[in-house]
Amino acid sequence: MPSLLAPSALLPSGWAEDVRIDIAPDGTIAQVRADAVEGAGWDVERVAGPVVAGMPNLHSHAFQRAMAGLAERRRDPSDSFWTWRETMYRAAHRVGPEDLAAIAAMLFIEMLKAGYTTVGEFHYLHNDTDGALFADPAEMSVRLIQAAAETGIGMTLLPVLYMRAGFDGAPLEPAQRRFAMDEDRMMRLLGSLRRHARGMGGLRIGLAPHSLRAVPVEVVRAMTAALPDETPIHIHVAEQLREVEDCLAKTGARPVELLMVEAPVGPSWCLIHATHVEQSEIEDIAASGAVVGLCPITEANLGDGLFPLGPFLAAEGRFGIGSDSNIALNPWEELRLLEYGQRLSQRRRGVGLPPRASGSVGAGLYHAAVAGGAAALGQPVGALAPGCRADLLVLDRSRLTQPEAEGDNLLDCAVFGGSGLPVRDVMVAGLWRVREGRHPAEEGVRPRFLQALRHVNR
Ligand SMILES: [Zn+2]
Repeated sequence: MPSLLAPSALLPSGWAEDVRIDIAPDGTIAQVRADAVEGAGWDVERVAGPVVAGMPNLHSHAFQRAMAGLAERRRDPSDSFWTWRETMYRAAHRVGPEDLAAIAAMLFIEMLKAGYTTVGEFHYLHNDTDGALFADPAEMSVRLIQAAAETGIGMTLLPVLYMRAGFDGAPLEPAQRRFAMDEDRMMRLLGSLRRHARGMGGLRIGLAPHSLRAVPVEVVRAMTAALPDETPIHIHVAEQLREVEDCLAKTGARPVELLMVEAPVGPSWCLIHATHVEQSEIEDIAASGAVVGLCPITEANLGDGLFPLGPFLAAEGRFGIGSDSNIALNPWEELRLLEYGQRLSQRRRGVGLPPRASGSVGAGLYHAAVAGGAAALGQPVGALAPGCRADLLVLDRSRLTQPEAEGDNLLDCAVFGGSGLPVRDVMVAGLWRVREGRHPAEEGVRPRFLQALRHVNR
């Protein structure tokens, strides 16, 4: 395992110069020293730019990468999330196991090149293309695990419970048969996944009730209460106004309100989107310690709405970012769009910092998203510190609007500059996965990926 010497690096205590990072054989950081001076037995690899911790991507649906760019035609004036979902369901129905393996492998390479080093895969494509159950409920999940191993990205796999079509308890529609997963089969799936995950570093298994639309809140409560403490639990909630209205009509409560009262929401939970929330719900989420999973590019693409970031930060809430539909893979753009959406709606600047904080907005957004993402994925990542996995990015100064920027200004340029990916090299668990913007598996994966696209979109 290498020892690295970085001209500068962002440590938990702030930016430091001449930083030596020693990596243990298990891929974790053994020691970090600033102002390192060459001495006896000096054997280090010098890296070519400033170093920061890799960004966790807390929410992805890998198969949706196959339809990225194919749902941008308006077919009628009421085009919405729900018409997009029809296109997504069509793609979902053609993705076979081999397709998923290839699509996920290319997607994970794209994530790594952009600076994501761990992915939370919210996986609900469980059954065969005709809806039939596979003998091993992990048949599709295993393709994602294989793609993570092939490309070297860390993964928290979140198998999804999906039981009904809506709050009224209607059975799944034909287009949702591939997602069908009840409590008993989920227990089998979790058992199978734990066997597959054995001995695979960087892989964690969590659980994702799809949404309160798709899973009764009593089942959410019972399933999650039965899991070991600290198991990552993710759920889509309050993404669309129609979901809020349906929930209110059926239960008398708003989705986040219902979840906070009826389920044991705590620090190992991640509420995806939580777009449509009122002040009391904002305060309840923040007080629970749960992370909110924001996916600004996808939320903008689908016309979801804007999360009330200012009030949430005022309540000391935690957030991370996710690429969700995978229409674009760029953590820097996610943070930029998060801040810009707030600026446009609030008509002020620097909304992404807690109310009384001052200083770099780029660094504030980056710090919050790295810490929130690491917590949501339940992985020992998110800091250049002993005991953390050696997941790090070497920034590419030539891509920054201020190539000679230093300190937090580097992150302002990376987040707000927006001309190309500001990442040069990417390490996960002590292994270089991207060097000078290239991933060694990309050439081999690309033909399989193109074949899968042709198959899915034929
Ligand atoms: Zn999602």
